[in-house]
Amino acid sequence: MQNIQKDWFLYLPEDADINLNIAPLNVSEAQWRKRLTDAEFRVLREKAIEWPSSGDLNEEEQMGVYVCAACELPLFTSAMKFDSGTGWPSFFSHIPGHLGTQEDHSLLLPRTEYHCVRCEGHQGYVFEDGPAPTGERWHNNSVSLHFWPTDSKQRVARA
Ligand SMILES: [Zn+2]
Repeated sequence: MQNIQKDWFLYLPEDADINLNIAPLNVSEAQWRKRLTDAEFRVLREKAIEWPSSGDLNEEEQMGVYVCAACELPLFTSAMKFDSGTGWPSFFSHIPGHLGTQEDHSLLLPRTEYHCVRCEGHQGYVFEDGPAPTGERWHNNSVSLHFWPTDSKQRVARA
Protein backbone atom coordinates (compact mmCIF):
# COMPACT_ATOMS: atom_id res chain seq x y z
CA MET A 1 0.00 0.00 0.00
CA GLN A 2 2.77 2.39 0.90
CA ASN A 3 4.37 1.60 -2.44
CA ILE A 4 1.26 2.65 -4.31
CA GLN A 5 1.76 6.11 -2.82
CA LYS A 6 5.55 6.19 -2.89
CA ASP A 7 5.94 4.93 -6.48
CA TRP A 8 3.30 7.15 -8.05
CA PHE A 9 5.82 8.78 -10.40
CA LEU A 10 6.35 5.43 -12.19
CA TYR A 11 2.97 6.09 -13.82
CA LEU A 12 4.05 9.34 -15.46
CA PRO A 13 4.56 9.48 -19.22
CA GLU A 14 8.22 9.01 -20.09
CA ASP A 15 8.85 12.63 -21.05
CA ALA A 16 6.61 14.28 -18.47
CA ASP A 17 7.98 17.68 -17.64
CA ILE A 18 6.33 18.21 -14.36
CA ASN A 19 6.21 20.96 -11.77
CA LEU A 20 5.93 19.57 -8.24
CA ASN A 21 6.22 22.86 -6.40
CA ILE A 22 3.26 22.97 -4.02
CA ALA A 23 3.55 26.62 -2.98
CA PRO A 24 0.07 28.15 -3.29
CA LEU A 25 -0.61 29.87 -6.61
CA ASN A 26 -1.58 33.50 -6.61
CA VAL A 27 -4.34 33.49 -9.22
CA SER A 28 -7.47 35.63 -8.93
CA GLU A 29 -10.97 34.28 -9.52
CA ALA A 30 -11.16 36.52 -12.60
CA GLN A 31 -8.01 34.90 -13.97
CA TRP A 32 -9.35 31.43 -13.24
CA ARG A 33 -12.51 32.33 -15.12
CA LYS A 34 -10.39 33.02 -18.19
CA ARG A 35 -8.17 29.96 -17.84
CA LEU A 36 -10.88 27.38 -17.15
CA THR A 37 -13.90 26.24 -19.13
CA ASP A 38 -17.30 27.07 -17.61
CA ALA A 39 -17.73 23.47 -16.46
CA GLU A 40 -14.25 23.39 -14.92
CA PHE A 41 -14.81 26.72 -13.19
CA ARG A 42 -18.09 25.61 -11.64
CA VAL A 43 -16.50 22.54 -10.07
CA LEU A 44 -12.97 23.75 -9.29
CA ARG A 45 -13.79 27.24 -8.03
CA GLU A 46 -17.47 26.98 -6.98
CA LYS A 47 -17.54 23.38 -5.70
CA ALA A 48 -20.34 22.28 -7.99
CA ILE A 49 -20.74 18.56 -8.57
CA GLU A 50 -20.99 17.18 -12.09
CA TRP A 51 -23.81 14.84 -13.13
CA PRO A 52 -23.05 11.17 -12.45
CA SER A 53 -21.55 9.30 -15.41
CA SER A 54 -21.16 12.58 -17.31
CA GLY A 55 -17.36 12.70 -17.04
CA ASP A 56 -14.84 11.22 -19.44
CA LEU A 57 -12.66 9.77 -16.71
CA ASN A 58 -15.22 7.68 -14.86
CA GLU A 59 -14.51 4.67 -17.06
CA GLU A 60 -10.86 5.42 -17.79
CA GLU A 61 -8.87 2.22 -17.25
CA GLN A 62 -5.49 2.95 -18.81
CA MET A 63 -2.33 3.15 -16.76
CA GLY A 64 -1.43 6.74 -15.99
CA VAL A 65 -1.59 9.77 -13.73
CA TYR A 66 -4.57 11.98 -12.90
CA VAL A 67 -3.57 15.62 -12.53
CA CYS A 68 -5.46 18.72 -11.38
CA ALA A 69 -7.26 20.21 -14.41
CA ALA A 70 -6.42 23.72 -13.26
CA CYS A 71 -2.71 23.54 -12.39
CA GLU A 72 -1.59 20.00 -13.44
CA LEU A 73 -0.37 18.90 -10.01
CA PRO A 74 -0.49 15.07 -9.98
CA LEU A 75 -3.20 13.88 -7.56
CA PHE A 76 -3.88 10.18 -8.24
CA THR A 77 -2.59 7.25 -10.30
CA SER A 78 -4.45 4.49 -12.12
CA ALA A 79 -3.23 2.08 -9.40
CA MET A 80 -5.36 3.98 -6.87
CA LYS A 81 -8.57 3.95 -8.92
CA PHE A 82 -11.48 1.57 -8.41
CA ASP A 83 -14.99 1.19 -9.79
CA SER A 84 -17.28 2.48 -7.08
CA GLY A 85 -20.40 2.16 -9.24
CA THR A 86 -21.34 5.75 -8.39
CA GLY A 87 -20.74 7.32 -11.80
CA TRP A 88 -17.77 9.37 -10.59
CA PRO A 89 -14.06 8.54 -10.72
CA SER A 90 -13.18 7.02 -7.36
CA PHE A 91 -9.86 6.34 -5.71
CA PHE A 92 -8.89 4.47 -2.52
CA SER A 93 -5.66 6.42 -2.08
CA HIS A 94 -3.97 9.55 -3.39
CA ILE A 95 -0.55 11.00 -4.09
CA PRO A 96 0.78 12.12 -0.69
CA GLY A 97 1.02 15.82 0.10
CA HIS A 98 -0.93 17.04 -2.91
CA LEU A 99 -4.46 17.17 -1.49
CA GLY A 100 -5.81 19.30 1.33
CA THR A 101 -9.01 18.53 3.24
CA GLN A 102 -11.59 20.66 4.96
CA GLU A 103 -14.78 19.92 6.91
CA ASP A 104 -17.81 20.98 4.89
CA HIS A 105 -21.03 21.80 6.74
CA SER A 106 -23.14 22.89 3.77
CA LEU A 107 -25.35 19.79 4.13
CA LEU A 108 -27.02 18.40 7.23
CA LEU A 109 -24.32 15.79 7.68
CA PRO A 110 -20.78 17.15 7.67
CA ARG A 111 -18.58 15.95 4.82
CA THR A 112 -14.87 16.18 4.17
CA GLU A 113 -14.12 18.26 1.12
CA TYR A 114 -10.72 17.95 -0.59
CA HIS A 115 -8.84 20.12 -3.01
CA CYS A 116 -5.53 20.52 -4.82
CA VAL A 117 -3.01 22.06 -2.39
CA ARG A 118 -1.40 24.24 -5.06
CA CYS A 119 -4.40 25.98 -6.67
CA GLU A 120 -7.04 25.13 -4.02
CA GLY A 121 -9.22 23.80 -6.84
CA HIS A 122 -12.07 21.70 -5.48
CA GLN A 123 -11.84 18.03 -6.51
CA GLY A 124 -14.42 16.13 -4.47
CA TYR A 125 -15.29 14.59 -1.12
CA VAL A 126 -13.68 11.74 0.78
CA PHE A 127 -15.77 9.05 2.48
CA GLU A 128 -14.90 6.11 4.70
CA ASP A 129 -16.78 3.42 2.81
CA GLY A 130 -14.06 2.56 0.29
CA PRO A 131 -12.35 -0.78 -0.37
CA ALA A 132 -9.38 -2.36 1.42
CA PRO A 133 -6.63 -1.67 2.21
CA THR A 134 -7.47 1.96 3.11
CA GLY A 135 -11.26 1.95 3.44
CA GLU A 136 -11.19 5.40 1.83
CA ARG A 137 -13.27 6.54 -1.12
CA TRP A 138 -12.02 9.71 -2.77
CA HIS A 139 -15.06 10.69 -4.78
CA ASN A 140 -13.79 12.95 -7.54
CA ASN A 141 -15.33 15.01 -10.28
CA SER A 142 -14.07 14.06 -13.72
CA VAL A 143 -14.01 17.60 -15.08
CA SER A 144 -11.53 18.74 -12.44
CA LEU A 145 -8.94 16.14 -13.50
CA HIS A 146 -6.88 15.57 -16.62
CA PHE A 147 -5.48 12.14 -17.42
CA TRP A 148 -1.95 11.51 -18.64
CA PRO A 149 -1.58 7.93 -19.96
CA THR A 150 1.77 6.40 -19.04
CA ASP A 151 2.47 5.27 -22.59
CA SER A 152 1.63 8.59 -24.19
CA LYS A 153 4.32 11.05 -25.11
CA GLN A 154 1.82 13.78 -25.79
CA ARG A 155 0.17 16.01 -23.31
CA VAL A 156 -0.95 19.58 -23.25
CA ALA A 157 0.73 21.86 -20.78
CA ARG A 158 -1.48 24.65 -19.61
CA ALA A 159 0.57 26.92 -17.39
ZN1 LIG B 1 -4.45 22.43 -8.84
